[in-house]
Amino acid sequence: MLRIPLLEDLPAPTGKTVLVRVDFNVPLAATADDSRVVADDFRIRAALPTLNWLLDRGASVTACTHLGRPKGKVDPRYDVSPLRVVLDDLGLPVVLMENLRFDPGEEANDPVFVDRLVSGFDLYVNDAFGVCHRSHASVVGPPSRLPSAAGRLVEKEVEVLGHLITEPKRPFVVILGGAKVSDKLGLVRSLAAHADYVLLGGGMACTFMAANGLEVGDSLVDVSAGDDCRAILSDHAAKVLLPLDSKVLMPGNSVDVVKGSVPSAGRILDIGPETSELFGQRIMEAETVFWNGPMGMFEDERFSTGTRSVAQSLAQCEGFTVVGGGDSVAALDAAGLSGNVGFLSTGGGAALELLEKGDLPGLAALRESMDSRVAGRSAPWEEEWGLA
Ligand code: ADP
Ligand code: MG
Repeated sequence: MLRIPLLEDLPAPTGKTVLVRVDFNVPLAATADDSRVVADDFRIRAALPTLNWLLDRGASVTACTHLGRPKGKVDPRYDVSPLRVVLDDLGLPVVLMENLRFDPGEEANDPVFVDRLVSGFDLYVNDAFGVCHRSHASVVGPPSRLPSAAGRLVEKEVEVLGHLITEPKRPFVVILGGAKVSDKLGLVRSLAAHADYVLLGGGMACTFMAANGLEVGDSLVDVSAGDDCRAILSDHAAKVLLPLDSKVLMPGNSVDVVKGSVPSAGRILDIGPETSELFGQRIMEAETVFWNGPMGMFEDERFSTGTRSVAQSLAQCEGFTVVGGGDSVAALDAAGLSGNVGFLSTGGGAALELLEKGDLPGLAALRESMDSRVAGRSAPWEEEWGLA
């Protein structure tokens, strides 16, 4: 596993004050009287193992999170009061700081803001995997000032995702789709190096097919990605599988299955049945599977078949299956199959960046904190807290 300090590596938390960075960026809903309530408390309940571990050992716990995008200004639409209601309902004796992003110092990683944030705390725990790819003050700052560790959620994500790029059981099959192509090219390249097969669908596949010289009509194509796509295809020709056929929206609103060139006004919006069959076979034979990004515009029933069929193959696969990405998880939920998957990553962008680069700023900060402690190099907090 990628080396990071865990809760057990902290100095004994009994009687200590602990700052826990959580990801309570939950969806909110408006009530009839216009107040805001938490629409889904999943992310809050997900932090319970870490919070309870600390509370059970007699620590005094303060949590901090961002909520929405208030852009460095105090904005009552994003205050954390609805989150405090949930913490109260759960009976958790945890203090919750106000929204970190009310201060511009959070996203700017301002050292003065970090100093204010850690003031009065003995220990720091990062359990906000979803922001570990951000060099924000509350993510990368505290580990240089306090003894620090990863919470249980971060630990689990790093264990599972790290496993995919270090020692996956083979065959290891990766399925990538979705709309954001240029964002994900680095990911395709690095996963192609680790995996036995990379199956491409969605807008991602349109860009690769166009780069390969196929006429794709009016489909979603990121022209600027052409050279990178051709390089990936020539380096990993045998591994990268493009769709054999596509479902195309034609002028006049009819839907055709097309193999080869797509008419100029046609738009590829899903993989076709032969592709679903081929992808299904590869997935069913796999010992390890990672899936990110839908195979088509699955929000429209007419173009949801490819995504649903990948979800079904994944659910039937006996190997270890991992799904990451907001829309992929939503598609699994819609098919009622999320319970049949080995691991659902909550990380989004953080998960993809960890798979691509093998590390994240938030994890590196924790590791440096541990190394300076182990090596006996003097970190600022050591003398201050009598831990030197
Ligand atoms: P995720 O959230 O799982 O990482 P993305 O956000 O990258 O995935 O992409 C999801 C979006 O991609 C969906 O809204 C879907 O409609 C869109 N999409 C997928 N395939 C196509 C396509 N061929 N053409 C246009 N949009 C597509
Ligand atoms: Mg998305």
